[in-house]
Amino acid sequence: NLIVEDVHFSYPTGKVLSHVSLKLKPNSFNLLVGPSGSGKSTLLKLLSGLYPTFSGGTLDGKLTLDGYDINDIVPFQRVARLGYLFQNPTRQFVMQTPFEELRFSLENLQVTPTDMTDRIEKVLETVGMTDFTHHDLSTLSGGEKQKIALAAALAMDSEYLLLDEPFANVDPVARLQLIQAIKHYQQQGKTILITDHDWSGYTDMIDDVFVMNHGHLHQADEAERTKILHEVPIQTQIKTALP
Ligand code: ATP
Ligand code: MG
Repeated sequence: NLIVEDVHFSYPTGKVLSHVSLKLKPNSFNLLVGPSGSGKSTLLKLLSGLYPTFSGGTLDGKLTLDGYDINDIVPFQRVARLGYLFQNPTRQFVMQTPFEELRFSLENLQVTPTDMTDRIEKVLETVGMTDFTHHDLSTLSGGEKQKIALAAALAMDSEYLLLDEPFANVDPVARLQLIQAIKHYQQQGKTILITDHDWSGYTDMIDDVFVMNHGHLHQADEAERTKILHEVPIQTQIKTALP
């Protein structure tokens, strides 16, 4: 189980999370919402175990995975269990092509070379990027890079997947394709935590809704959950207003 207990976090510039607690039900799909700057990405980064290396912040409280402190689990074991997609993933690429990038992220898992190629091909197909397998990553469009970043996260086949605005930069058709890819992934028994400002197209997949407000988190009760999920997000209103 992935559990957050009374977490406080401050960047050198100020406090961002206060008294944050969170528990994800096994095999659930969880939506984390809240205004820009409320602390959603910060919470996901902490959950991903990036804390020791990022931004000189101070952390209080507990983040555990099956009872082990997330920051104590050795990185290659942690990434195998806990996948993470950055909010701005285009900066996280280290290799030259999608194929190499995915192979790189799979290298620490015990996957045989044949299985590895197989897995890479399959996951590139699910995000609709087969044709770009050996292209230069730096030449891909923003949305194409976003798809590769999601593919890399899905390829890990981890039990938990943290997705920070995974549909940023993608067109509506690709968005639906990525939603299907995530849905398929979750159906294999995975637990997902996603942050987004627009959940149109996947409202029916969402189990629990968590709300971040100025660094305070709460789980929406049934009434609030219904209100959030069935309120038309502003982004959708803007999109439908466009020609
Ligand atoms: P958005 O919806 O815009 O992605 P968010 O809820 O993900 O917002 P965070 O990225 O967690 O918000 O940021 C929370 C606050 O922490 C913001 O005020 C932000 O300016 C600040 N912050 C984020 N990263 C850092 C950092 N590395 N150093 C200092 N302050 C930071
Ligand atoms: Mg964010």
